[in-house]
Amino acid sequence: MSEESHLVFARKYRPQLFKEVVEQKLAIGALMNALKNNRVGHAYIFFGPRGVGKTTIARLLAKRLNCESPEDNEPCNKCKSCTEIMKGNSNDVLEIDAASNRGIDNIRDLRENVKFSPMGGRYKIYIIDEVHMLTDQSFNALLKTLEEPPHHVVFILATTEYHKIPETILSRCQDFVFKKVPLPNLQSYVEHLCKIENIDYDSDGIFWVAKKGDGSVRDTLSFLEQAVTFTDGHITGKLIGKMIGYQGVDVQIELFKSILGEKTFHKSFQTIEKVYNEGADLHKFAWDFVEFTHALILIKENLADRDSLNYPIEDIQKITKELEPYNSEILTLLSEKIYTIYEKLMYLKLRNSFEMKIFIEISIRKLIFDLNRPSVAGVLEKIHDLQQLLQKEGEKFIASAATRQAEQTVVTKPLHAVTSDKPEIEEEPEDIDMESILKDKFLGTEVDSSKLPEI
Ligand SMILES: [Zn+2]
Repeated sequence: MSEESHLVFARKYRPQLFKEVVEQKLAIGALMNALKNNRVGHAYIFFGPRGVGKTTIARLLAKRLNCESPEDNEPCNKCKSCTEIMKGNSNDVLEIDAASNRGIDNIRDLRENVKFSPMGGRYKIYIIDEVHMLTDQSFNALLKTLEEPPHHVVFILATTEYHKIPETILSRCQDFVFKKVPLPNLQSYVEHLCKIENIDYDSDGIFWVAKKGDGSVRDTLSFLEQAVTFTDGHITGKLIGKMIGYQGVDVQIELFKSILGEKTFHKSFQTIEKVYNEGADLHKFAWDFVEFTHALILIKENLADRDSLNYPIEDIQKITKELEPYNSEILTLLSEKIYTIYEKLMYLKLRNSFEMKIFIEISIRKLIFDLNRPSVAGVLEKIHDLQQLLQKEGEKFIASAATRQAEQTVVTKPLHAVTSDKPEIEEEPEDIDMESILKDKFLGTEVDSSKLPEI
């Protein structure tokens, strides 16, 4: 790790040029076009999830607008205005946090202040963060200003909740939509930073850091920062797994197989015991299993993009192989049952991990028992199938007897043979393993008693 790594990553790697921003190409491209053609609007709305670059790009735009000598449509980062903005002490760029009380006061003063010309630069730029938090009164004050904005004023309103902004405000602004950064892009960004910072890493480690960021560059950087400290600069899947309390997919697969494959709770107990002995958070473990069983269906049914699954690609390959023998019905049933167990676990608020372990063990044992118990529906189906079988065999018997009778009328048989002539079933009935057919069909099915036929 380099010497300066004590500097908070989010600050150290804050983009100072448009081209350094991770993702958001659409918004940046449109803004740069407007700048190039001198078509700067008076009010912009930057809308999108947290930590994806709204404020960063607002500051870049402010810097570019007031830059004394822009280069390639980017701020120079050298002139007086650029350096003041970077230090956060420019009098022409005012950042207001609408979520704070001070923000409301600022808006109140706004109408007066906008009248004054900028101190140094060409524009007075107001960046209002979390603008949806403004009170009605403040929105009214803002609206008055937006209705007749002085030519030197630019508003940049940032929000995570577009729908909370009054229509009157929206209609006077240009919209820019910011998106979550896709996982592969975050992964390559984290990898790039690890290389610069000389941090040891493997692909699983990078995956988990990027995944924790959940599409936000800011959250990714802040998690990377913690991870570097926790792992002493080794961003490996194993160490990050320990940090976030993730047991790894192998444990999940083990438990899954013990329930649906081996169908033995001895094996399940061993897995739970192992997780418990490792001091893992059983709550987290139970939730991970909820996610795992849900992912089984998503993978089986091809319902999700690989990137949206919470697993590195190697793990997805392992899971795909393991779920091969099972159909979607049984996987769905398992997922529902596991979720119910988790829900109960949440509701119970057990005091410690030992109590949780007991609860999970009992629930899993009951689950395995239920999944293997022939259900009422199964029994009814069995009766129905037996009826059909009897009917089929009966018809066969009558038919063969009729054939024989017909034959006897033509062929004259020796007398002694007639007495011993018993009807024979020509073919043995097919040996149907009803039990396993029913199990496959009705494993663990629950029955709505109101729909049962009356006897
Ligand atoms: Zn400049």
